[in-house]
Order: sequence, then C-alpha cells, then structure tokens
Amino acid sequence: MNYLEVEHLQKHFGEVQVLKDISFSVKPGEVLSIIGPSGSGKSTLLRCCTFLETLSSGKISYMGQEAVQAKDGKRPVYAPKAEFRKIQHYFGLVFQNFNLFPHYSVLRNITEAPRLILKKSRTEAEKTAMELLKKVGLADKAKAYPCELSGGQQQRVAIVRALAMSPSILFFDEPTSALDPELTGEILEVIRLLAEDHMTMVIVTHEMSFARAISNRIIFMADGYIVEEGTPEQIFERPAQERTRQFLAHYQ
Ligand code: ADP
Ligand code: MG
Repeated sequence: MNYLEVEHLQKHFGEVQVLKDISFSVKPGEVLSIIGPSGSGKSTLLRCCTFLETLSSGKISYMGQEAVQAKDGKRPVYAPKAEFRKIQHYFGLVFQNFNLFPHYSVLRNITEAPRLILKKSRTEAEKTAMELLKKVGLADKAKAYPCELSGGQQQRVAIVRALAMSPSILFFDEPTSALDPELTGEILEVIRLLAEDHMTMVIVTHEMSFARAISNRIIFMADGYIVEEGTPEQIFERPAQERTRQFLAHYQ
C-alpha cells in the first residue's frame, strides 16, 4: 500500500490556480524529491499534503484512508476531529524557516506535541527527545532556547521535533535555503542519515546534487503541473521535456 496517494489535486487562491491536476504517490521507504522553479507550487503542494491548506478539488489518502474535508469549510483540515488526529500522525513537516516556538526551550519544543497529541508522559517524551537530539549531535542543547542556536542547529531541532511524532512520512520544504552555505551540509547529512534508516521522505529542494544522490524518484514541477517524474538518472541525464532541460541548465 502507498503511504501517500494524491489524486487530481487542484488548488486555487481566489482566481489564481496554483496547482493544476497533481497526482503522485509515495511508497514506504521511498525518498522523493520535488524540484522546480520558484512559484511553481511546491510549497503549496506540501501545505495541501499536510492539511495546512484546503484543497479546491482532488483527493489525498494516507495509508489508504482518504482524508475528508471538514464540513464547516473553515478549518483547513480534512476529516472529523477524531479521524484527523489519526491521519495527522502519519506525517511531519519541516519548514524552510524552522518555525520553532521561540519562548520554549529546545526540549519543550520537541516534547509539546508528543505530550499533547500522543498523550505521552513527560518522562517518556523527554526520553525520546533526548535520544533523537543525541542522534543529531545536539544533546547538550536541550535546555537552550532557539535564539541561542545557529540556524543549522535550529533546523536540526525542527527535524527532531517532527521525528518525535514518529511520522510515516517526513516532508521537507527547502530545509537548507534559509541557511548560510556552510550550515547546509549539516542538515543534508541529517537527512542522509534518515534515508539510511529508510525514513520515507518528500523533499522540496534546490540542492540538485543532493537530490540526485539521495532520491529514489524525482518530480519536476513548473507552473502548477508535474512536468515529468522519473529516477534521478532519467531526470538529470535524460530529461524527456524541454522545460526540464531549461530548468536544469541553470544548475550546471
Ligand atoms: P514554490 O514553493 O514552488 O515557490 P508556492 O507554492 O509558494 O511556490 O507558490 C505558488 C504560487 O502560489 C505563487 O504564485 C504564489 O504567489 C501563490 N501563492 C502561494 N500562497 C498563496 C496564498 N496564500 N495566497 C495567494 N497566492 C498564493
Ligand atoms: Mg516554496
């Protein structure tokens, strides 16, 4: 069974159609990278997949369960509360700008959701958090506040915060683009380690050589469409579409 199935997703903002008939799936253990010019709808696609935006039409299913749009049409969620809570555990999202809570310590940033949503005890949540922090080399920062950390450290905490919910799929939206170049490597290394652990991931990135090295599959998006998808070799060495060739030429 696919972990995620997106079928004929369309998204409008007012008159403007930002996503035009997007369909794709994510298999267990797969690393899928989404590349494409800015403004092509990549962030909107991740926001739709993680229910931060409502869909205009189409279907999203996690683990074969279709997410249903809330009837009141106001909440940007897709299911009755109880079902939404269940589906919400299936994914995590790491943003470009880390989005840590500035007034919470690192440890509290990580343990808040497992305690509130997964109803974990404080001891249990902190134990998991410390194990994960150790993995990304930040065990000594548990009591620090986000403002005391470098951008790369903040982003590693954001990754740990997402992992602490034990998601089936982890989404990344340009996880290194807000970082100085010398801090990019430490984040890519964490993602590489997660791939080695067979974490299922969907990564929007402009790091082409990284995407090529780490991904099982690449999707190229432009103007709200999936222009083509294929293996890294297909997309980077033998792109079928002129639009893909044009885009990749900027990275050579
Ligand atoms: P990308 O991540 O590929 O750069 P985005 O998904 O951020 O692209 O944006 C795609 C298009 O949707 C852009 O033209 C952007 O201006 C527009 N857009 C994104 N979010 C909104 C919004 N909340 N309201 C109106 N337009 C939006
Ligand atoms: Mg974006």
